[in-house]
Amino acid sequence: MEMKETEIEKVVRQVLQSMMSDQEQERNQRDFNIPKISRVAMLTGVEHYEIQEYPIPQLGEEDILVKVEGCGICGTDAHEFKGDPFGLIPVVLGHEGTGEIVKMGRRVKADSAGKPLHVGDKVVSCMIFKDNPDITMFDLNKQNVGGADVYGLLPDDSIHLNGWFADYIVLRKGSTVFNVSDLDLYSRILIEPCAVLVHAVERGKTTGILKFNSRVVVQGCGPIGLICIAVLRTMGIEHIVAVDGEQKRLDFAKEMGAERAVNFKDFHGTEELSEGLKAAFDGKLADFGFQCTGSPIAHGNIYKFIRNGGGLCELGFFINGGDAKINPHFDICAKEITIVGSWVYTLRDYATTFDFLKRAKGIGLPLEKLITHTFPLERINEGHRTNLAMEGLKIAIVNM
Ligand SMILES: [Zn+2]
Repeated sequence: MEMKETEIEKVVRQVLQSMMSDQEQERNQRDFNIPKISRVAMLTGVEHYEIQEYPIPQLGEEDILVKVEGCGICGTDAHEFKGDPFGLIPVVLGHEGTGEIVKMGRRVKADSAGKPLHVGDKVVSCMIFKDNPDITMFDLNKQNVGGADVYGLLPDDSIHLNGWFADYIVLRKGSTVFNVSDLDLYSRILIEPCAVLVHAVERGKTTGILKFNSRVVVQGCGPIGLICIAVLRTMGIEHIVAVDGEQKRLDFAKEMGAERAVNFKDFHGTEELSEGLKAAFDGKLADFGFQCTGSPIAHGNIYKFIRNGGGLCELGFFINGGDAKINPHFDICAKEITIVGSWVYTLRDYATTFDFLKRAKGIGLPLEKLITHTFPLERINEGHRTNLAMEGLKIAIVNM
């Protein structure tokens, strides 16, 4: 007896369907649950987000539609919220975002590292390549992301869904995208800020002074300084002294891997503070310093904490905080200090950060505790105000 070809196809399809796992069936099902419109939080004026709705556009062959799960509020967002220094308004902000792929163009097969991509995978995005020939996937370290476009810092356009403070975002052709399904939501939200510190520590290492047995001072225990301590700790560095003026943050610095903590409010003047720091290093000055505050006074002070021939990485000044007073004779020449600056990250640092987060978790550093407050999208104005009030550490918009 012969089966007709169409019957064979039918049977094959039935067999395939029965082989499809529940998970896959659920994924296919989810495709039908994509709404026609998406909410975005549009910053329409200073200190004013408006929840607006836009149609979810047709995807191109290389586009990816992501359902946003969460996005951290960055210092950059805070500055933009407060006064639009980058002139982006109206804009959908949010660049520390992550979510789940709900639909993708026919030609999307793998992420920027070559890892397969499927509907249901959790992703983050880094820079958008556009037509800059200096950034190529074959030399991930070539250019700093500071010179590239990033979702959440693009002016509003005809697609609108181009920032992570939204229900959905369209990652367009030419974007970097990474499959980070093996990280939990809070870790994924922290990838972007952590990449800043992975980069800073890489910059520090270029001096040849920062080693696993170095004595390192980290000045400033906001999210940046705290993550800096964690990155150093995952490098195997044990002698880390944290400096800040708030005891709560100093206590947290110890949880993040600092051996000792110095509260600058316990000392009068830089000389005395420098002695306090020396005591914390059992009578020696630091080999290396990371300056993680935006305070010009703090920049001037940190030279006094570093030994002759030591090194310094300055990464605290994401905006112009004014001029700092230093003494070139005592602070730089006579000490022969090697100074490096650090600015955001390269694509390579971004990819390295995924493993940093796993290592940090593996040695028990409670990075997830950095996210102290979460707000749903419709309360984003409140979220930003909480951020400006410096009430917590990392504030995140979470859509789940
Ligand atoms: Zn950021």
